[in-house]
Amino acid sequence: MSPSELADEVHENYRRYVNPPLARVMKLSGSPIEVRAQGCTIWDHNGKAYLDFAGGYGVFTLGHSHPRVIAAVREQLECMSLSGKTMFNVLLGRASRRLAELTPGDLQISFWCNSGTEALEGAIKLARKATGRSKIVATHNAYHGKTLGALSISGREAFQEPFRPLLTDVAHVPFGDSEALDAALVDAAAFVVEPVQGEGGVNVPPLGYLRDVREACDRHGVVFIADEVQTGLGRCGYLFACERDNVVPDVMTLAKGLSGGIIPVGAYIARAEIWNRAYAKAPLLHTSTFGGNELACAAALAAMDVLVDDALVANASIRGEQLLAGARDLAARYPEVISAARGLGLLVGIELRNEGYGGWIIPEMLKAGVTAAWTLNQQRVIRLEPPLIVTEDQVKRALAAMEAGVVAAHENLGALA
Ligand code: PLP
Repeated sequence: MSPSELADEVHENYRRYVNPPLARVMKLSGSPIEVRAQGCTIWDHNGKAYLDFAGGYGVFTLGHSHPRVIAAVREQLECMSLSGKTMFNVLLGRASRRLAELTPGDLQISFWCNSGTEALEGAIKLARKATGRSKIVATHNAYHGKTLGALSISGREAFQEPFRPLLTDVAHVPFGDSEALDAALVDAAAFVVEPVQGEGGVNVPPLGYLRDVREACDRHGVVFIADEVQTGLGRCGYLFACERDNVVPDVMTLAKGLSGGIIPVGAYIARAEIWNRAYAKAPLLHTSTFGGNELACAAALAAMDVLVDDALVANASIRGEQLLAGARDLAARYPEVISAARGLGLLVGIELRNEGYGGWIIPEMLKAGVTAAWTLNQQRVIRLEPPLIVTEDQVKRALAAMEAGVVAAHENLGALA
């Protein structure tokens, strides 16, 4: 099949069977067709290589197709792929133990599932059962997923409004505002917060905010849930981003990078005291058929080892500083296009003065062979989120591609304003 025949087939399948309006937008914006990926590179159907700075929205912490993770999954596939469910399982125990070793403080008991939003559903239920209260407090502009519970505590009206009524007894407070916590947390089951808001536009809270959250949750007997689905496992230059404030939450949710981008997986990990309060007498109240399956656990175990053995957290910190400095330099040189550049580690957001500018910048970057993406709640912010294995030269190339995009937007300011 020729590349153009393949493209026709894919476009037609998307148009008829996947998502017709999205297919139209993707085709119009010149979105290529991915066929192969390795490390920081994705190849399209024409053989063109792209540096992956969208990174599957944070999934590819180890890059694509990491050989150690693939080998672990292959080995497990030959032996047993999914759990029979009625017996003990070696890898689920090992992956849970390893996660407890890596996560801060006394986080100990894990529930495994298949995505970030499921991890949030599990954490919300855990907090409600453990406290006997129903109210969940979250932050404006948060993103926690799109299943009904996680959507209810997210902070973007456009995603919520078509599905109301959602969970009742949900309150939102401004992100990063310690003063707003005490009044909101009275009689709450949980406070859910991202250490850095990812989809909300890469918002980094003031230092000490999570410490204030910890103290306020303790004062009110509220379960502190840190949603590290996007920020965890090295992404922000810390193994877990709540370590920036030296804070241990009661529950941490994870997904995205947890299996090194090989098998979909999510999890929450909780303090034993909280988990026991909820489920010591009712161990089957929250379960998942595929959660904690052997392939996902084999991938997660190998991925956690690679993260530590290859010192990827340190690389995320160093390359993150380079990327953010480059983005800030662009912001200083093109203030008519970029209003701010911010981030932590390799989660960097570039805020544009006009939503339309991204329509020039992202396609220009693609032309230059670099992928980037908008944030889901904030269409004015482009996020750069490459694998943690990214090199100095690759960061330079991405910044050059970004500059080409910014120049294109700058030349078209009149048309876009
Ligand atoms: N929580 C956070 C912080 C996220 O960034 C996301 C996804 O972007 C989710 C939860 C939902 O994860 P998933 O898309 O795997 O359901």
